[in-house]
Formats: sequence, structure tokens, C-alpha cells
Amino acid sequence: MVMAYDPQNIFARILRGEIPNNTVLETEHTLAFRDIRPQAPEHVLVIPKGAYVCFDDFCLNASAEEIVDFHRVAGQICALLDVQPEAGKPGYRTIANAGEHGAQEVPHYHLHILAGRPLGRMLDLA
Ligand code: 5GP
Repeated sequence: MVMAYDPQNIFARILRGEIPNNTVLETEHTLAFRDIRPQAPEHVLVIPKGAYVCFDDFCLNASAEEIVDFHRVAGQICALLDVQPEAGKPGYRTIANAGEHGAQEVPHYHLHILAGRPLGRMLDLA
């Protein structure tokens, strides 16, 4: 099954201002906002403003400027949440779900940043 970019996806609509969001940080190329159904006390989504379906699409097709900006914003979110392990803080988890096996719900690339409690092991292998 091909996952094509759908300009009507919910994050594209958020980027066009058609749906409100709880913005944490915004730059020329990137938007970070709170997840509507948080899975941890802190749950922020970082998305590029460009139309990329998922992680590999973004890595392969975005400009260097977009890629750097995206990751700087993600780092700034970690700083704003005050969770950086290198500063003695408790840490966090980033997740990028992709496609069917990754259980991706919204076909616009996004990085989840989860923090605020111990998050358990990465995968429940039971
Ligand atoms: P995925 O499963 O695609 O990795 O994650 C999509 C995420 O988007 C989910 O965690 C879901 O709660 C979040 N989400 C879906 N619709 C909205 C919305 O309208 N606003 C916000 N802020 N988050 C949303």
C-alpha cells in the first residue's frame, strides 16, 4: 500500500491555520505543538512545514536547511521541557512512526517527544 501525501491530512490543515493547535515553538520551516491525546505528562509533536509523508521521505527529500531547522527545534523543545540528560535532567523519548507497520496515523512526518515520567522499555515484546 502506497502512503501518498494527502494535503487534507490533519497536520496540513493545522499548518494552513484551518485547525487550532497548542504551539510550543515555530520557525520558518518547522512547527512544534502539543499532542491532542498526550501519552505522557509532556507530549510534543515536531513537524516540518514541507509536505513530507514520513521520516525517510523527509531525510531523503528535504533540504539541508529544513533538516537542520527541524532538529534544532526538536533540541530546543527538549531544552524547554527541561529534560536533557547531558544537563542532569531525567530524559525523554523521541518516536517517528512510519507507515502500516509503524502504526502511523497522520501521513505528514512528525516526531513525537515524550517526557515527564519513566517511559518503560522501547517496545513491548510480549
Ligand atoms: P502517529 O500515530 O501518526 O505517529 O501520531 C499522530 C498523533 O497525532 C497522535 O499522537 C494523535 O494524538 C495526534 N493528533 C491527531 N490529531 C490531532 C490534532 O488535531 N491535533 C493535535 N495536536 N494532535 C493530533
